[in-house]
Amino acid sequence: MKKYNFNAGPSMLPREVIEKTAQQCLDFNGSGLSLMEISHRAKDFQPVVDEAVALIKELLQIPEGYSVIFLGGGASLEFCMIPYNFLIKKAAYLNTGTWAKKAMKEAKLFGEVVEVASSADANYTFIPKGWEVPADADYLHITTNNTIYGTEIRKDLDVPVRLIADMSSDIFSRPIDVAKYDAIYAGAQKNLAMAGVTLVILKDDTLGKAPRQIPTMLDYRTHVDKGSMFNTPPVVPIYSALETLRWIKKNGGVEAMDKLAQQRADILYSEIDRNKLFRGTVETEDRSVMNICFVMNDEYAELEKPFFEYATSKGMVGIKGHRSVGGFRASCYNAQTIEGVEALVQAMKEFEAQH
Ligand SMILES: *Cc1c(COP(=O)(O)O)cnc(C)c1O
Repeated sequence: MKKYNFNAGPSMLPREVIEKTAQQCLDFNGSGLSLMEISHRAKDFQPVVDEAVALIKELLQIPEGYSVIFLGGGASLEFCMIPYNFLIKKAAYLNTGTWAKKAMKEAKLFGEVVEVASSADANYTFIPKGWEVPADADYLHITTNNTIYGTEIRKDLDVPVRLIADMSSDIFSRPIDVAKYDAIYAGAQKNLAMAGVTLVILKDDTLGKAPRQIPTMLDYRTHVDKGSMFNTPPVVPIYSALETLRWIKKNGGVEAMDKLAQQRADILYSEIDRNKLFRGTVETEDRSVMNICFVMNDEYAELEKPFFEYATSKGMVGIKGHRSVGGFRASCYNAQTIEGVEALVQAMKEFEAQH
């Protein structure tokens, strides 16, 4: 039976990305050696990093004065690297979910942290509005897509301070105005590559201002200066990112990804709103197009497990909601197909007809 992968992360990648990466793991560029067993400084590998960086700059139209680097440690390491490198006195954080809260916790190790707003009391079912950022904050940190709760800030905010964003689960799903940001970071395993690499985009002239000594490996300048080659980078994950970037370009770039994301989300949210068994979990205007969360309507609560089993029998994988929300979560990253979303909708319709 055909499987439809709705995993939240690590998650679905285009089949050709997986096949081409697997091929290079067997025989890298016809060298007779695996991608896993060559030096990262080999003359054949440098072009992989160079092309990946060039494609990222092209796809996101990154202006002059920014660097693109690949790091290990996941998005979670950036939670401390960001304040280590950027927090001078005071930082502002928008608390929109589990990941935002974790980022804020690390920042408190380095200075004053102002929580500009939070939707924690409402189990993060909306993006707070109408808040103000202290004009003397060094930056405002936001999480553009809340992977667990299914809310999203799908635009580049206008605020009086510099923006820093965790875009782990929606990067490359829409055009971004990079000029508004001092830093953008993303763990790769949601929308870019296999797990093991983190993409970081940095505004060069904002580095080196923090009034503290930074350990070499945690100082962004180390990795910018050495073009992600200060130490051994995660070569296979970087290669898989390159193949995804080529795939995005071939398929129309981030504008096309944006259109497809909206189409997938429209199809699924329409069914959630129409179907008597289900309801969405977040404010309509803040709905994520990447992680689509829904639960059983109260009068059908006992059908949660039966629906999960029915959908599984129809090929759906990874639709169980995160434990802090319950119900279901269909993650629809760039590689997700309209066909996959329609298969899920079909299962929802059939299950409704049976009840
Ligand atoms: C998954 C996720 C993280 C954590 O990523 P790791 O690479 O596992 O550290 C952080 N932020 C967001 C928005 C995520 O979706």
